[in-house]
Amino acid sequence: MEKSFLIPISRRDLLKLAGLTAAGAVIGSNKTAQAAQAQNITFNTDNIPTLLRADVCVVGGGCAGTAAAVTAARNGLSVVLIEQGTVLGGLQTQGLVYPSMPTKTINSDTPYITDLNKRFYMHGINVSFTEEPQYKNGGDAREYTPELLAFIYDELCADYKVNVLYNATLIGASTQGGKISAAIVHTVEGTCKVEAKIFIDATGDAALSRFAGVETVRGSDVTGRNQKMSFRFEMGGVEEMKVYKFFVKKLKDGWCESKPPEFEFAKTTHTEKFYYEGIQRGEVTKDDVAYIQAFTIIGKPGTMSMNCPEVSPFLYSSTSALDRSKAIQQCRIMIRRLANFFRKNIPGFKNAYISREASMLGVRESWRIKGKYYMTKDDYYNAQKFPDAVCRSAYPIDVHDEVLNLDHKLAKGEFYEVPYRALVPKEISNLLVVGRCISADFPAQAAVRIQPTCMSMGEAAGIACAYALKNNLSVTTLDWADIPAEIRSYVSAG
Ligand SMILES: Cc1cc2nc3c(=O)[nH]c(=O)nc-3n(C[C@H](O)[C@H](O)[C@H](O)COP(=O)(O)OP(=O)(O)OC[C@H]3O[C@@H](n4cnc5c(N)ncnc54)[C@H](O)[C@@H]3O)c2cc1C
Repeated sequence: MEKSFLIPISRRDLLKLAGLTAAGAVIGSNKTAQAAQAQNITFNTDNIPTLLRADVCVVGGGCAGTAAAVTAARNGLSVVLIEQGTVLGGLQTQGLVYPSMPTKTINSDTPYITDLNKRFYMHGINVSFTEEPQYKNGGDAREYTPELLAFIYDELCADYKVNVLYNATLIGASTQGGKISAAIVHTVEGTCKVEAKIFIDATGDAALSRFAGVETVRGSDVTGRNQKMSFRFEMGGVEEMKVYKFFVKKLKDGWCESKPPEFEFAKTTHTEKFYYEGIQRGEVTKDDVAYIQAFTIIGKPGTMSMNCPEVSPFLYSSTSALDRSKAIQQCRIMIRRLANFFRKNIPGFKNAYISREASMLGVRESWRIKGKYYMTKDDYYNAQKFPDAVCRSAYPIDVHDEVLNLDHKLAKGEFYEVPYRALVPKEISNLLVVGRCISADFPAQAAVRIQPTCMSMGEAAGIACAYALKNNLSVTTLDWADIPAEIRSYVSAG
């Protein structure tokens, strides 16, 4: 499971922190600032050619943006989906993030997730297998491979005629009278405009919102730090049963309750000594093994998906362009050390090899908008319900930062909801924001950032766009609760 293990900070790390905070200030990487400056760039758009026009323009083809685009198109709108990579899915595919976490509550699956599960099934993936079967319809669309998901997303976009614009990077926004009139993108043809009636920011980094002058925040209120970043990789040639026996039988680690084909190992109190000895022998560093987690992948036998290495939030900030690059370079070195360590010390990894490296850094949290409703950790603790809720979850506050220790779990059976207003910025009247950059404080974002919740947000935004355009309403002033219940993807339990 995507969760942090608590590792106490050492005196060395504390000293490192003191030194590095100062260094960060010198190079101008503003790591302690919480409120982020909106990035306004003024373009003379008259000379920029219009590449495409649509009812809705979604920027960012991660799981949230793809859900938004497909749902808007399914509801009869013309849609352009702008993606800087060559695959949809964002962190799911480019970032090799696997599996989808369950929401840990019943009936959280919105229709889009149910449909996605059906598509997985049609392609031979049995989604009925679940580690936690008690969470009936609980966002558990977990058994995918990045490659299959990429194919299914293309298939969905083709079926509903979403115009996908790959290799197109958003570089600005043209705004007039509190509305976005065009997204400015860099493509192989040069700089172009995509014009639309409504825009959806699904960039994860709130890029479109920042270009349009929407207020954003970043990092923790307490430390200013962002969550830790990871650069994921996969290893092929793994004999999974041997790995299972080593961790469960030899090291007596009961962390993962299931057996291959669905199995994971992690750094836990039981296996800490195993990694510590690797450090002592000089095979890995303390940072390399600060967080270890590996999953078998249903549909890719003999391959394990590594939710590591993680880089220190003291050294690398997800809101610094240079830090992101340096983190990738550092992680490539760490990946090689980890792979050698696994090969040498874990039975079942003897012939394993690095089969894939992510093509996108694993950013858990960067910029978040401050919209009409700002979700806080109290909404989580109080299991808050909202009349305009777009989805539900009981996924815990899952912060990857060993010092903050904000992790918290709701009591069994409790769940919280995400209000539509958390997708609505205050400043722009034709913009919605979905996915991991919605309006939520640092701890609340750490709960709502999981894939099923991001997808349900995207789906709701797509429905709202269709309802708004059909009824001549603004997406930012309409009340989700006013949309007829049979059209809504989720109706509040409150
Ligand atoms: C290391 C790691 C492990 C995780 N583990 C899990 C897990 O096990 N299970 C789980 O459910 N969740 C997990 N999560 C969280 C979850 O995967 C993400 O929060 C979620 O996928 C975010 O989806 P998104 O669509 O909001 O953003 P993203 O997936 O980040 O998608 C954003 C998209 O926008 C594109 N984009 C960005 N800027 C531009 C631009 N300027 N122009 C054009 N395109 C742009 C990007 O290329 C990308 O495709 C993990 C996250 C990380 C980082």
